[in-house]
Amino acid sequence: MIALVTGAGSGIGAAIALRLGRDGHTVAVNDLTLAAAEETAAQIRENGGQATAYGADVSDEQAVNDMVAKITEDHGAPEILVNNAGFGHQALFMDIAPEMFDKIFAVHVRGNFLCTRACLPAMLAKGQGHIINIASQLGQIGGVELTHYAGAKAAIIGMTKSLAREVSDKGVRVNAVAPGPINTPLVKALSETWKAAKRAELPLGRFGDPDEVGGVVSFLISDDAALFVGQTLGPNSGDVML
Ligand code: NAP
Repeated sequence: MIALVTGAGSGIGAAIALRLGRDGHTVAVNDLTLAAAEETAAQIRENGGQATAYGADVSDEQAVNDMVAKITEDHGAPEILVNNAGFGHQALFMDIAPEMFDKIFAVHVRGNFLCTRACLPAMLAKGQGHIINIASQLGQIGGVELTHYAGAKAAIIGMTKSLAREVSDKGVRVNAVAPGPINTPLVKALSETWKAAKRAELPLGRFGDPDEVGGVVSFLISDDAALFVGQTLGPNSGDVML
């Protein structure tokens, strides 16, 4: 299938793109920075897979529509969309500037909305598609100094459930993955105090690796996950147990 993974120049997105490439999918690797996307695409090709890089800001409607049109021209319309692009930011509630609040929601929530909006019509026309939204366990339990981030991730979980209710009987399966702390640049940038406290409360006692999220996305796309609809899977080291 043709898979679009956003924010795949780094961390979890790169691991998901590499895994989908290994699974035999043709991967459209998106990132804000084209050079970062190119690096992941090159790694997929070195491993014998097929991949092309696309630079676009997922919060920019025109850029997203142009990117999906170009992917469709190059490879065919995306049949798998992994909405992964995002960034972290930590601040006490009263220190969150309205501009940062808007930016968090623009990239995580509006970006998810715009990419899904650009890919969904072709999936519905074909009667087949997979949309995987990368949320966070913080969207389920909240996090100190993370009101804006956790709020955006909770929105993504609500969007996942709502769209799943709308399109599942039309062949498009929509699910979310809500990872716990994963060793990526995003987590490395959080404060040492936060990371030490978080590690201490995890039943597994360790943060995850990006590959461990890639495997969950691979499963959700497989036929083994045919009954998973509007779910939020939690590779979270036991941080959240539902
Ligand atoms: P990461 O290593 O920083 O990777 C995120 C990637 O997204 C970066 O390459 C970044 O590009 C890109 N990006 C940012 N804004 C973008 C935009 N507007 N358009 C396109 N691409 C954009 O972070 P990560 O930890 O892998 O996070 C990936 C996703 O998992 C995020 O949605 C994050 O919220 C979620 N998540 C992460 C964790 C964790 O513990 N790491 C846990 C739960 C959920 P630049 O570097 O050029 O900005």
